[in-house]
Amino acid sequence: MEIACLDLEGVLTPEIWINFAKHTGIDELKATTRDVPDYDALMRQRLRILQEHQLGLPDIQCVIAKMNPLEGAQYFLHWLKERFQVIILSDTFYEFAMPLMKQLNYPVLFCNKLVVDDKGNVVDYKLRQKDQKRQSIIALHQLNFRVIAAGDSYNDTSMLMEADAGILYKPPQNVIDEFPQFPVTTNYDELQQAFLKSSDRF
Ligand SMILES: [Mg+2]
Repeated sequence: MEIACLDLEGVLTPEIWINFAKHTGIDELKATTRDVPDYDALMRQRLRILQEHQLGLPDIQCVIAKMNPLEGAQYFLHWLKERFQVIILSDTFYEFAMPLMKQLNYPVLFCNKLVVDDKGNVVDYKLRQKDQKRQSIIALHQLNFRVIAAGDSYNDTSMLMEADAGILYKPPQNVIDEFPQFPVTTNYDELQQAFLKSSDRF
């Protein structure tokens, strides 16, 4: 029994915060963990900026709904679901991902939650668990699944290492250099081939 696990941002959708910053014109929101390495400090900064611009969750979801999955992502996901059970493992938040999930036909998604007050303000966030991508692979192994995982970035590498087969999709050079054990794919055709090659059924 095999399961395919996919990262979301950079594999099926653009980076949500960066695109959100572009759509709203709020440059300060372009900061990532490269600029602010402490994730909690980065999230506090993002929540403060949202509050300063009086952006509540409904406004944010409206902006995100104008974003689209990456070109070819819908077809790729459909192709993958015909051959594997698919779970998306992401570090984003359900509330942000939902407008994009709609466009992807609501695949299974494991991610994190925002805390929203009754006026729609985002006041806090909750990580479901630490290193949840890797923990999900460990749990799937306990359920006797063989797992093939694909992701684009540093935050995917513990998931790729834990999986039976790991695949990189359009990764930055530093990730390629540091993790030479994973095959690198640069378009959906190559990613499809890598899934077939990693499978014990095809
Ligand atoms: Mg990613």
